[in-house]
Amino acid sequence: MAKWGMVIDLNKCTGCGACVNACRIENNIPNVGEEEAQAGRALDWMQIITEYEGEFPDVRVTHIPRPCFQCDNPPCTKVCPVHATYLNEDGLVGQVYYRCIGCRFCMAACPYSAKKFNYYAPEIPESYQVIRNPDVTRRMKGVVEKCSFCHHRLSLAKDLARFENRDLREEDYQPACVESCPADAMTFGDLENPDHKVATLIHSSRAYRLEEELGTDPKVYYLKKEDK
Ligand code: SF4
Repeated sequence: MAKWGMVIDLNKCTGCGACVNACRIENNIPNVGEEEAQAGRALDWMQIITEYEGEFPDVRVTHIPRPCFQCDNPPCTKVCPVHATYLNEDGLVGQVYYRCIGCRFCMAACPYSAKKFNYYAPEIPESYQVIRNPDVTRRMKGVVEKCSFCHHRLSLAKDLARFENRDLREEDYQPACVESCPADAMTFGDLENPDHKVATLIHSSRAYRLEEELGTDPKVYYLKKEDK
């Protein structure tokens, strides 16, 4: 089984937000508006954290895109009383919306704040229905949601490969955020396939994972920003 993962080069990320918007469009993520966002209720699955170091004018700025880390040892799945979140057959952490009872234990257990709670059912104007992605379920009020590494794209890529009687290629499956990055800061693939670029990048001297001492075994790696 492939071990799908991502490497994000912090030297290259400009914090432009293209990945955040691509994720919104791909996954039918509603804009909750300024007031709700200020109350901490934004639903974005991809977030960009910006860190500042030093004193003005010598300030070093680092932008850190954060999707779900698709942990191999995910604490979120262990606390769900109804098995609504689970490690699926592709090694990704799935979320079954129709099973979720909204207790939010998984949100409390996730050390990366990757999960979002739907405080209300999004109202989508009729004219916007045509731009909804039919491959992604629309979430309802009272359920928890999160990034899936665009798992629906993997299902489609696997079906196509089977139909064409060939193996899955690296370029067949790329999440929307990776595809949209104008700075080419994100690389995606099978972390254990030596033919995939990510398998080499994770051994870079700049590679690290966030809070890996917690034992979560995240499948998102970062390449440390170098001093200029
Ligand atoms: Fe679960 Fe959080 Fe890990 Fe994603 S980052 S798999 S939500 S613990």
